[in-house]
Amino acid sequence: MAEVFKNLINGEWVKSKSGKTFENRNPADTSDLVGTFQLSTVDDVDAAVTAAKEAYPAWRDTPAPERAEIMYRVANIMRARKDEIAQLMTREMGKVLAETRGDMQEGIDTADFAAGEGRRMHGQTVPSELRNKTAYVIHRPMGVWGLITPWNFPMAIPTWKTFPAITTGNTIVIKPATDTPACTARLMEILDEAGVPKGVINYVTGSGRVVGEHLINHPDVKGISFTGSSDVGKRIAEATGKTLKRCSLELGGKNGQIVMDDANLEIALEGALWGAFGTTGQRCTATSRIIVQEGVHDEFVAELVKRAKALKVGNGLNEDVQVGPLVSEAQRQTVASYVKIGQEQDKAELVCGGHALIAGDLIKGWFFEPTIFDKVTPDMRIAQEEIFGPVLSILTIKNLDEAIEVLNGTIYGLSSSIYTQDVNNTMRAIERIEAGITYVNGPTIGAECHMPFGGVKETGNGHREGGWTAYEIFTEMKTVYIDYSGKLQRAQIDNK
Ligand code: NAP
Ligand code: MG
Repeated sequence: MAEVFKNLINGEWVKSKSGKTFENRNPADTSDLVGTFQLSTVDDVDAAVTAAKEAYPAWRDTPAPERAEIMYRVANIMRARKDEIAQLMTREMGKVLAETRGDMQEGIDTADFAAGEGRRMHGQTVPSELRNKTAYVIHRPMGVWGLITPWNFPMAIPTWKTFPAITTGNTIVIKPATDTPACTARLMEILDEAGVPKGVINYVTGSGRVVGEHLINHPDVKGISFTGSSDVGKRIAEATGKTLKRCSLELGGKNGQIVMDDANLEIALEGALWGAFGTTGQRCTATSRIIVQEGVHDEFVAELVKRAKALKVGNGLNEDVQVGPLVSEAQRQTVASYVKIGQEQDKAELVCGGHALIAGDLIKGWFFEPTIFDKVTPDMRIAQEEIFGPVLSILTIKNLDEAIEVLNGTIYGLSSSIYTQDVNNTMRAIERIEAGITYVNGPTIGAECHMPFGGVKETGNGHREGGWTAYEIFTEMKTVYIDYSGKLQRAQIDNK
């Protein structure tokens, strides 16, 4: 019997008031039922928000170092359960075990960072322009936060949001993606076991349209932290804009890797393979464009195709598999439709893959060949739109200026990379690439939890998750002046 997962509301695991559930199946083998989950309604969201609102004052007033102490225990429980939850993650999401262990490790690192941050949470102290007066800034929590997460990092992204949100003294209601709710349930169990008081964390599963929308529009929710597609992100910005509710958005990408003629081709090739086909291309930071200088184009593409063809696709639970399935049938259909667009509309040259994989055991899941298009030009749809699958477009450029122009020529700006040995080109690229993240001689993926993470243009709305910057998202700044002169002192008047 597959596990029945419930909602977590006010410290209790409860069924949805709807009485309905939905199934979560393994995308590598759809006969494997991972669990059934509550198909929640707005009533469930209301109950969760009420619980979070009631838990807030006591949690807000708990000293931050004491709140953060729980994070040490969270990190340790996650360490102990790393392999077990990585297995579950591979079953629910499809990516290979090495990557789901990495996803767990990112959560552990984020807990370690949060544990320390509870003792830092720096404000600023500056001199006042007046005598006998002091001025400083502190960060205050805001209340109930709604967290809405995607399916591609089933543990890391929920931890990126949950840990800073609660360490800073907020309470939360989290709605995980319908495709991957199990890992978030495990995270809630861990937080509960580590001693987070009841009501501080609440977990409600169900559709984005119902649960997500209600959370966004709920008057008692003070902020929304969302990671997902740009389309849904824009909807959230619109809805939260009406009441000026804080919202932090981490959205799509169309990340490019530049390969200059002087690059170390071996590491550029390995970076391209890992960036494009790791997580079956379903990373917000996946490499979906190679922007290669004409002098090395032929050699680079020939070798890349050879290595892409050699990648082992299959069930990610097998340690020798390198590329898992797409997360769902719908995602595979999207990928197939883009391959068709690439061939028929864009008229790019398909040089590798292009088909769903259905031979043998692969018929059980949503597998697709690693796919490469060459002779792609910047205006083509496969060069512009986020495909979110194992499809790589190759664009050829003459020089660095053209490379940067092509790289910048999409609506997105999340991650980017350049392979070159030339320090002048490196520095110019770092300055002129329009992206939140630039890697030099590394692929477009590989974020570290203590560094700011996020993008420019339609990838987000200016916030950065990760590191200390996440702590700014979840807090309000309070500017404090204390006058101990014993008299009225008027700034800009009495001291001039
Ligand atoms: P999505 O369809 O936008 O869904 C993201 C989350 O929003 C899910 O929990 C979804 O619920 C929910 N949702 C859907 N419609 C909603 C609505 N109208 N109101 C409120 N919530 C709603 O994205 P996805 O397909 O899960 O993830 C892929 C996208 O995420 C890609 O575009 C990728 O680039 C982006 N992403 C970005 C980052 C980053 O940090 N920049 C990281 C990872 C992924 P359901 O699951 O129930 O539909
Ligand atoms: Mg979705």
